[in-house]
Amino acid sequence: MLVAGNWIMILDLASARQLTSGVVSAVGTPKGTGVALCPPFVDLDATYSLLHGTGIRLGAQNMHEQDSGAFTGEISAPMLRAVGCHYVILGHSERRQLFGETNESVNKKALQALSHRLVPIVCVGESLEQRDADRHNMVVEEQVRAGLANLEVSSSSEIVVAYEPVWAIGTGRTATPDQVQDMHGHIRSLLQDIFNEAIGSGIDILYGGSVKPGNAAELFQRPNVDGGLIGGAALNAEDFAAIVRCAEEAA
Ligand code: PEP
Repeated sequence: MLVAGNWIMILDLASARQLTSGVVSAVGTPKGTGVALCPPFVDLDATYSLLHGTGIRLGAQNMHEQDSGAFTGEISAPMLRAVGCHYVILGHSERRQLFGETNESVNKKALQALSHRLVPIVCVGESLEQRDADRHNMVVEEQVRAGLANLEVSSSSEIVVAYEPVWAIGTGRTATPDQVQDMHGHIRSLLQDIFNEAIGSGIDILYGGSVKPGNAAELFQRPNVDGGLIGGAALNAEDFAAIVRCAEEAA
């Protein structure tokens, strides 16, 4: 189980420090579930200082596919490692929709993350139009197969997949537990096919899309739902801690 907070582009340095301290005291020492915070790049260093030694890990929201070079405005995997990142979110639907990321660019970044011992949280998910056209399973299969192509993984803890239906992100509209269970089962079979039975069975598949303290328990109890990628509710320390407790109870 893993609960990761995606702080999107919301918090400046002072607010990030305040929220991190709030999360550390509200969550306490994580019991049987991984917990991670993914702040904006400029807040990573300060967040790490407050998280160090707490058992709560740090993640970034994106990275470039090269080690270094003339890529103005970009951040590399070695830079993320140097400020204490364990995870990096890749291919979030906002990156795909607003910044032109493709399955191929997500794949290059995932390869790069693994080669620097960062754990990629690879996001997949269909649009409302695709779900209404009953193409969601096919779209997610393409994203999973292309995004994870050629990855050499020797343990299931080296990679995380997050299913985030685009129509449920930041909308207050959560996928139903049955829809989530069906898609997570589909992703589980794909992971077993792409890697092998043992690795594919152990990879955490997170659900993201309007997870709140009031719906987290029901979602996390479903088979193959191994935690959540939390946006809005991660910006409130008490709400985030309540979601972590739901994961701990489901673990
Ligand atoms: C997200 O930003 O990845 C997300 C899942 O947001 P929310 O929880 O607000 O839907």
